[in-house]
Amino acid sequence: MRIQNYKANYHTHCHLCNHAIGTVEDYVVKAIHNGFQAIGISDHAPLDFLEERSLRMSVDDYPKYIKELKHAIVHYLEYILIYRSLEIEYFPFLHEHYQDLLTQLDYLILGQHYIQDGDDLKSVFKIRSLNELKIYKDTVIEAMNTGYFKILAHPDIFLINQGALSQEILDMCEEIIDVAIENNVLLELNANGLRKKKHKEDGIWYPKYPRNEFWEIVSQKKAKTIISADAHDPNHLVDEAMDEAYELARHLSLEVEEELVLD
Ligand SMILES: [Zn+2]
Ligand SMILES: [Zn+2]
Repeated sequence: MRIQNYKANYHTHCHLCNHAIGTVEDYVVKAIHNGFQAIGISDHAPLDFLEERSLRMSVDDYPKYIKELKHAIVHYLEYILIYRSLEIEYFPFLHEHYQDLLTQLDYLILGQHYIQDGDDLKSVFKIRSLNELKIYKDTVIEAMNTGYFKILAHPDIFLINQGALSQEILDMCEEIIDVAIENNVLLELNANGLRKKKHKEDGIWYPKYPRNEFWEIVSQKKAKTIISADAHDPNHLVDEAMDEAYELARHLSLEVEEELVLD
């Protein structure tokens, strides 16, 4: 039984990132068949210096991405609103790049999968120490203050290796949430985290996100939330993880935005 009839999804990948399946058109068709009014396609942005270490769209495939988006927009114009986006990390030396992307796309999602720890570029999945948590927090705060990003994807991903959260860590969560409110950035409750809870990669079992402790603060502060499929397969647009995410949001009384308002 479907418990929620969601009408849009703004965090959607495609085959070009090399770890998702389906063309842009496949996701659009799936969304139309499920009565969606809007879909935002937001594949992992090509960044040449990350190409070696993360499975993401290559710089060479970017024109193909834009072409697939254009094709879908032209062909399905009457049926659904299609937004062009990318999920991208924040690095302070890329300011011009974000500005340039925003002239071609409708919005950007901040998905901070790496932190810069001195000379070391560290995956967020390996964040453990207080210092690393702080770098993540400072990075996403700096990013949100630029105004380039509309959504902060899986903001709580940095807590992935933490047991019980100390007051110091809860304070970091609060700081992130406050800056999101100040900048009108939507905090994303990510259904892919729920989907991945039993997921094993490179021999590691990934602990669960979303983290309730984070979302309880979001709820108290009435920060704007968006629920995303973070779809890596067209079937992810409407699945149990999405139902679970909506159920969690209802349970926590989150202020869920059903529609992305672009200025
Ligand atoms: Zn991905
Ligand atoms: Zn994503």
